[in-house]
Parts: sequence; structure tokens; C-alpha cells
Amino acid sequence: MEYMIGADIGTTSTKAVLYDLKGNVKAYANVGYPLYQNVPDMAEEDPDEIFEAVVEVLGKVMRKGHVQAGELQGVSFSAAMHSLILMDRNHQLLTRAITWADNRAAKYSNELKANGLGYEIYQHTGTPIHPMAPLSKIIWLRHEQPNLFKQAAQFIDIKTYVFQKLFHTYKMEYSIASATGLFNIFNLDWDQQALEVAGITRDQLPELVEPTAQITGLDTTYSQETGISSDVPFIFGASDGVLSNLGVNAIDPGVLAVTIGTSGAVRVVVDKPVVDPNGRLFCYALTKDKWVVGGPVNNGGIVFRWVRDQLFAPEKLTAEQMQVSTYDLLTQIAEKIPAGSDGLLFHPYLGGERAPIWDSDARGSFFGLTRQHTRAHMVRAALEGIVYNLYMVMLMIEGVAGKPKSIQATGGFARSELWRQMLADIFEQDVTIPESFESSCLGAAVLGMYSLGLVDDLSAVKDMIGVTNVHEPKAENFDVYRELIPIWIRLTRELSPEYSAIADFQRRHMQVKEATKD
Ligand code: ADP
Repeated sequence: MEYMIGADIGTTSTKAVLYDLKGNVKAYANVGYPLYQNVPDMAEEDPDEIFEAVVEVLGKVMRKGHVQAGELQGVSFSAAMHSLILMDRNHQLLTRAITWADNRAAKYSNELKANGLGYEIYQHTGTPIHPMAPLSKIIWLRHEQPNLFKQAAQFIDIKTYVFQKLFHTYKMEYSIASATGLFNIFNLDWDQQALEVAGITRDQLPELVEPTAQITGLDTTYSQETGISSDVPFIFGASDGVLSNLGVNAIDPGVLAVTIGTSGAVRVVVDKPVVDPNGRLFCYALTKDKWVVGGPVNNGGIVFRWVRDQLFAPEKLTAEQMQVSTYDLLTQIAEKIPAGSDGLLFHPYLGGERAPIWDSDARGSFFGLTRQHTRAHMVRAALEGIVYNLYMVMLMIEGVAGKPKSIQATGGFARSELWRQMLADIFEQDVTIPESFESSCLGAAVLGMYSLGLVDDLSAVKDMIGVTNVHEPKAENFDVYRELIPIWIRLTRELSPEYSAIADFQRRHMQVKEATKD
């Protein structure tokens, strides 16, 4: 047999999947680690805990799959974007991994936005100006931890750290680099202006390599621990977001990948880097000639969870007693309400918002309430509001990447038939739910196979995944949505000037800090 491992270094755990060359799953392992949140807005992880998890999952899938010498063709990696680790000149850690979820750099990203520099930099880097990006985090550390900053010999991400431990070299591939806010996506090199603003030089950053680049010579200690021979090539791979597009077969032009899990995202592949004139979309590399344009959305399924917990607490108890999912029960309740919720509109900004409006002060609202509206209307309006918001991101993508032709959709929302149909009706597109297990691991494995010449093309992925559901837009529903969407979008603009005032009030008065956080 011939095998390939796809591994994904995620925010809560690292996963590894052993595949045969047809994409069949032969073994799976998952090892978790804590997120450190000792002070407000902090979200850090211990790089060594993550590294140990990587070694452990690799060893586990090798053993579970009974992989014999010579059978493993390669190991390819996916990782969460935007992490930042500072290393000293002796290759020792100066910080933990500061993750994408860490918001302590907000003051500095706000300054970059306000003084216009952020906009200029975005135009070459394709990374929206936000505290998530290493660019903002480096500026924050320079101002608030100057001693640490001065000792930093290398600014790296978690995947670079893992490869450094395994192969003793600092290399970062274009995909992770393109999400740092420091990388020029048009000339595939560190961006001089971004480096100047960050206050660092290029020798403090890793050498850049293509996502398909390979490396051999695995450190003998880890070769023994994992059972992976030192001559097996490791492929640097890419970031989890772009590999998930690949893993759900959304790599042809016009095929949108829509995810509604806890958060959400809309992404599409284009053949060259593009930026949004208003700085609201990201553009991250998958390979040198495949780029993923899209928007990350905070308010996905977490909003449905809030509806469940805050508006339907009694039903939650009943469902728990009956041992059924409260989400299924709520979906049945929402189904009785017509498309458009009889004109009740909901803006889902319970946790501030990234794309489409990039406003951390944004807040949620119901609009159009009458005495006829019921809790059932509210749940349907909430599900619709989440999808309207993603639709607004799609409109922005359409502006730079052309009209989409179909949707591959994933995430917890796909368990609800009503919600899947809603996506088809609001977007007026065919929606396919692919059957893809750990799509970022599969994406990594396929990219690895492509790098090794084991498949001719990334589109080989289409034979590796199944389909669970297909939905076509229904005219009786989209007619209603066509009327409501313009009102919803206009309202988004009308409400926006008041968000900071209400958020400011809440910060001063609310007892529970950030009630929407888990
Ligand atoms: P994550 O993004 O953390 O991986 P999931 O993709 O599993 O999480 O998505 C979790 C979300 O999926 C929940 O917040 C909820 O909104 C939604 N969800 C879960 N089960 C159902 C269901 N049966 N019907 C509708 N939505 C569901």
C-alpha cells in the first residue's frame, strides 16, 4: 500500500489522518491542548504542547494504520493562520503562540486603520487590518513589551516552529505568510512597507518557500518517536482555510465554499491575487497560482446557540429529557414560519463582526417587530440573518472575483435541512453538502500528493469526497428574499453609526463582560 498523512495544527487540537492515495481514511488521531486566557483579550497556546501533540498524532496514525517501511509517501501540513511566536538567537521561545483569537493588539490595528497606513499595506498584503494579524501583534509587542521585542531574532508562526523542531530550519510557506499582513502577495516576498511599519527587518523572518515545497531529513529523535523514516518527504503545505476549500472541492473558479460552524466564512479560489478596494476581503495563497479570496464571519452557529439558550431555555430542557437535539426542535419550530419571517429582520452581530462590516463594536438587533411576531419568527429570522450576512460577504467577493456558479457548504449548520435550503434560496445558488471528513487534513494530503507527483492536478480531490445533500433554490422563497435583502443591507448601513455608542455604554454598564463569549 501507499499512504499519505495530512495533519492539521488547529486552535483546539492537532489532527492527523492517514489516507491511501484514493483519499480513503485509514487512521485518524486527534490530540488537544489548552488555550491560555489569563488576561482580557489574551488567547495564547504553548508551542511545545502543540509540538508534542503533532509528534503524538503522527505516531498514532502510523501505528493504527500498521504502516510498513516504504509505504508512507509523505506528510503534509495544514495550520491555523495568524499565530505569532518570538524566538531568541539561541532558538529558544520568548513567547507562547499568540493565536488569531488574541485581541490585545486592537489599539494598534485601529491606529493603522485611522491613519490610512493600514489601507495602503492591505493593498499589497491582502490581509485585512485587524488584531488577528501578526503585523498588528508585532506593533503591539514593540510598544508594550519592548524588552521582549528587542531580544527577538525570529518572528514565526506555529507551523514554522514545528518544522524548525523537526528539521532545524526556519521556513514559512506562502500561504501562512500571506496571512501575516507582512507578505506582498503580488511579488511573493516580504513587504518592505509592512516591515517598516512593524519595525522589523527581513532577516528576522523565515525564509519563504512554496506550499508544495518538500523537506527530508527528519530529526532522528522524532523519526523514532513517530515511526516515520528520515527519508520520507514532508510538505510544508498551507493554511487551514485555503486547504479546507481544497478539501471540500471548492477550487474551480466560481465555486463558493460557505462554512457555518460556530463562526462562518465565504471563500472562492481565483488564479491570481486580488484585493478589495475597501479592504474588507482577505486574499490568501493556496499555491503560487491559486489564491483564496473571502471573508471570515464571527457570527455563525454561535448565534443559533444564543437563541437556543436565551430564548428557548424551556425547550432545551424538554429536548434534553427526550434526548433529542434542541437545534432539531428549534428547526421544526422555525419551519412553520414562512420564508422572510413575515418581515422580521435580524442582524446577527452578537460578537462584533469581522467580514463584511469589520466592526468589533457592532451589535445585534431585531427589526420590524409587530405584535403578530412570535418566538418562532425570531428563531427563523435569526437563521436568515446569519445567512443574509454571509450573502453580503458574497456580494463583495462577486465584486472582485465574478459571479459564483455554485456552493459547497460545510459546518454544523448542515445538519438542518431548513437551514441548508435557506442558503440555496437566499444565495439563489445550488448548494451541495460534501461528505468530507477533516477537510483541511484532506486538503493538506492532496496538496502533498500533488507536490510528489502522485496526482496530476489538485482537482483529483473530486473523486475523494462524497455528497450528502443537494439543494436547489426555490422561486417561492427567493422572490421573498429578493425583496428583503435590500432592506437588510440598507439597515446595516443605517445602524452602523450607532454601534460604537451602544457598545461604549455596554462596556461601562454591563456586569458580565462579553456575555456572548463561550
Ligand atoms: P465548529 O465550528 O466549532 O467546528 P460545528 O461546525 O460543529 O462547530 O458547528 C456548530 C454549530 O452548528 C452550532 O453552534 C449550531 O449553530 C449548529 N448546529 C449544530 N447542530 C445543529 C442542528 N442539528 N441543526 C442546526 N444547526 C446545528
